[in-house]
Amino acid sequence: MNSAKRYLQAAQMVYIACHIIPDGDAIGSLLGLGLGLRRLGKSCTMACADPVPAKFNFLTGWQEITAQPPKNEEVIVTIDSSDIERLGSLYDEHIFRSRPIINIDHHVTNTRFGTVNLVQLLPSTAEIVYALLRRLQAPLDKDIATALLVGLVTDTQCFRTSNVTAKQLRMAIALMKAGASLTDITELVFNREPISTICLWGQALAHVQRRGRVMWTEIDQHMMRKCGAAPNEGNSLVSFLASTMGVDVAIVFREKDDGRIEVSMRAGHGWDVSEVALKLGGGGHPRAAGCTIAGKMAKVRELVLGEIEAALQKQAMAREEQNAEGG
Ligand code: AMP
Ligand code: MN
Ligand code: MN
Repeated sequence: MNSAKRYLQAAQMVYIACHIIPDGDAIGSLLGLGLGLRRLGKSCTMACADPVPAKFNFLTGWQEITAQPPKNEEVIVTIDSSDIERLGSLYDEHIFRSRPIINIDHHVTNTRFGTVNLVQLLPSTAEIVYALLRRLQAPLDKDIATALLVGLVTDTQCFRTSNVTAKQLRMAIALMKAGASLTDITELVFNREPISTICLWGQALAHVQRRGRVMWTEIDQHMMRKCGAAPNEGNSLVSFLASTMGVDVAIVFREKDDGRIEVSMRAGHGWDVSEVALKLGGGGHPRAAGCTIAGKMAKVRELVLGEIEAALQKQAMAREEQNAEGG
């Protein structure tokens, strides 16, 4: 935290980038930090390789988010990205090698690629940004508080994930005291699904399959086109599948427009899907992880299901051994 603070205090121009196919934590933390540093007199470029999803277009500053790689900024900050490839087309090896990188993230699979790694296993990156801004004594206005609360609320599914403690609720109180409206955020972020998302859910739910404790569905380009869905639409479906009784792991396989398959996984209490995601070139958290794999749908599905089944068996065995030792 201290070295991140020193780098940021010394810089006049800062480049901040979040991950591709951005979610609320990526956009909220990006804007929160960018607006906060501006209040301290810095010039900030805020960047994301992919467009900002429409549901976040109530946040101040979203229109300024650019898809340009860094130019002459002195420091690069990466947001909510477990590895540098998650920046997509913003990542230019030559430019990134020539200046300090502050890696702000909360994924257990983070590869520690930064000059400074501000990686903490908290429910959201927004909390690390919040702590950093406080350390920098940045003023907390309504716009910054709203952006950070969007990050916290989206990554905790409205404070419902198992990693939520009183700490997150305390931060929410502070942000609300600074002017953020939890009512507005939940309304705008969770109660505004486009009809194309409902269409996609319908298609995907009609094709749900189950093998033992693993449930999955597949979304192909045909479904995406038929529903007129954007690349990141319907990504909360996987959490819904994971809420099924008797299901320990839920997976949504989605064919991307470049032909690769995006794999989104959720695990029930006591299970871990992050190791499989990491092994297959992705990353994430124990209970929410993902990866993107080149290949045909059926082949990718079998590969992932095989790895998941093996991982679940290993985890169940480890637990049994632990119980036997304990008992
Ligand atoms: P998602 O299923 O897309 O909501 O992602 C769940 C978690 O896994 C998020 O924390 C993502 O950052 C992470 N994740 C998803 N896809 C990838 C990927 N291709 N590489 C690294 N991390 C990923
Ligand atoms: Mn994210
Ligand atoms: Mn996050």
